[in-house]
Amino acid sequence: MAKEFVKNVTSMQDDFAQWYTDVVTKAELIDYSSVRGSMILRPYGYAIWENIQKELDKQIKATGHENVYMPLFIPESLLQKEKDHIEGFAPEVAWVTHGGEEKLTERLCVRPTSEVLFAEHFKNIIHSHRDLPKLYNQWSNVVRWEKTTRPFLRTLEFLWQEGHTCHETDEEAHEETIRMLNVYADLCEEFLAIPVVKGQKTEKEKFAGAKYTYTIESLMHDGKALQSGTSHHLGDGFAKAFGIEFTNREGKLQTVQQTSWGFTTRIIGAMIMVHGDDRGLVVPPKIAPTQLMIVPIAQHKEGVLDFAYDLKDKLSQTIRTRIDASDKKPGWKFNEYEMKGIPLRLEVGPRDIEQGQVILVRRDTGEKETVSLQDLELHIHNTLNDIQCNLLKKARAHREHQTTTVTTFDAFKNELTEKGGFIKAMWCGDEACESFIKDETGATSRCIPFEQEKLSEKCVCCDQQAKHLVYWAKAY
Ligand code: AMP
Repeated sequence: MAKEFVKNVTSMQDDFAQWYTDVVTKAELIDYSSVRGSMILRPYGYAIWENIQKELDKQIKATGHENVYMPLFIPESLLQKEKDHIEGFAPEVAWVTHGGEEKLTERLCVRPTSEVLFAEHFKNIIHSHRDLPKLYNQWSNVVRWEKTTRPFLRTLEFLWQEGHTCHETDEEAHEETIRMLNVYADLCEEFLAIPVVKGQKTEKEKFAGAKYTYTIESLMHDGKALQSGTSHHLGDGFAKAFGIEFTNREGKLQTVQQTSWGFTTRIIGAMIMVHGDDRGLVVPPKIAPTQLMIVPIAQHKEGVLDFAYDLKDKLSQTIRTRIDASDKKPGWKFNEYEMKGIPLRLEVGPRDIEQGQVILVRRDTGEKETVSLQDLELHIHNTLNDIQCNLLKKARAHREHQTTTVTTFDAFKNELTEKGGFIKAMWCGDEACESFIKDETGATSRCIPFEQEKLSEKCVCCDQQAKHLVYWAKAY
């Protein structure tokens, strides 16, 4: 038998960043490529993305949107048409200057997002109120030349979907912005078991070119926050710059109201940092490429493999099931599939077969139980449901524990240093206070939550009248 190398991950407590790196590489989600900040999505990592994509695509279509595909390149003159947009994105844009040996007459930018491409197209195809709403989505890659990078969380190139819509009225665009934020929030909570806070970005943090930006913010195991998806009301900024006009119901020319919204491979980073533990990844059952791994015990004994394969065929009809019948030791297999976060392991050996039972082991709790073959399939379904619920419950409890309410700046600094996590505090709305808080504490405003509370009359930073409750945190 070949010598088997058992992989281990660094403990979270010792070094969270190293733990994360260990998990993404040893669970075989990614490999690094030769370009800084670009990652190779390996089959397991890509399969998780495909499951997320499948579910989100279903929701996007169920809310009336159609998929399209835009080009990868944007001519410089096009990108410059909307002033705020180009100002915001300029530092992160990658440029193509040559085709072969020949210098291009106009530089082409590799899309960091596709608002201007959609705007140019919308101008050509929208003429009347009968052409509205236009509800488009594209699945693609984009490139943003980030200074610091980390697999999934912040990469130079990432996979995402970007929705782009045009509406007759401001109100309709607003409803769309909220609708798609809710689609993201539900996907996070129901499929990824990641609880989110919904709210609005401050002016300083909103998308370049947007009227306003809504966001979902989640909290990682180390107490840092992650912006997990954004939905923008673009108003008529792009529409005016590009002349996207239609004849309205009164026969007059009017500019459209637009939205855009995006959700990326970053969410896999969130899943890792919300559910993972010192044994590695924990993948929620609803998006796990493999929900159940069968490990035959004493598989050289007569009948064991046949039995295990029969079981696999039967269970595969309703449960994403795999079997590892390689000649590696069961101990190695247990470790490997725990590292990969497979929700359930099924062990079956000669004695179990004799007794008409198998052993099931849960990844989330490590609990082991003997289950009769008669009730097996139903029992697995119930356990997978239970794991899914338990992961969300645990993540919610962790977030509650790491959310603190403060009314003074001293308490703000202390809590952030001692405990990390979300700090809930009042803010006057002045950008100077927001910047001061960031410079002094390292925490940024994550969002003005939709669910507002009045913690005090005054801003946590200055003595002015408070306008909003804000969630603050150090963030990825
Ligand atoms: P934006 O178009 O800037 O609103 O971005 C949409 C979403 O993409 C954000 O809410 C982030 O969750 C995510 N995102 C932004 N930059 C990156 C990046 N470099 N790598 C991965 N995801 C990103």
